[in-house]
Formats: sequence, structure tokens, C-alpha cells
Amino acid sequence: MSNGLSIPNWSGRRATKALEHIKATGRRNNTPCCICNQPIDYNLPSTDPNGCSLQHLKSRALYPQLTWDPANWAPAHLHCNQTEGKEATVGIGTTSRKW
Ligand SMILES: [Zn+2]
Repeated sequence: MSNGLSIPNWSGRRATKALEHIKATGRRNNTPCCICNQPIDYNLPSTDPNGCSLQHLKSRALYPQLTWDPANWAPAHLHCNQTEGKEATVGIGTTSRKW
């Protein structure tokens, strides 16, 4: 049965398509950045720090099963996403405190 571990990595064509999807809906709805709430210029290239990137509302590290769930995607500035991403991966390790 499914053990939930066979989730494709966030890369390649699927990730590109997901980003295109979030850009298209974001542009249509004028969705602001989900992190800083400022408007996003959807005409900027994805490599621009102020351009649109795809943010996982629930981090992939904690919710890998939601990696490919469009309901878990939201537009964010690239620079916001990168800052957030680094912080989100902090402190996930086990704290086995012995006393
Ligand atoms: Zn932002």
C-alpha cells in the first residue's frame, strides 16, 4: 500500500508548470505576495528578486504530501520566498533533550 514516500521532487517540468499556473492565476486575480502582502509585478522574470515565485503555504519539509497540491500553492516575491524558505527549514530536526 501507499506509504506516502513516493512524492516526486520539486523540480523539472512539473515545477515549472506549477509556477506558470500560480503566475497565471495570480496575475488574473492580482494576488499580493503571501508573505509580505505587497503587490507582485507578474511581468517581471522569475529570476528577478521582485518577481513572482511559488510559495508552499505548508512547508514541503513538514507536509511533503502537499507538495503537488495546488491548494497549497501561493504567489510570493522571489526574495520573500527565499528568506522564508531558509527560516522554515530551521528547527525541524529532533530535539531529544535528556535531563
Ligand atoms: Zn513579498
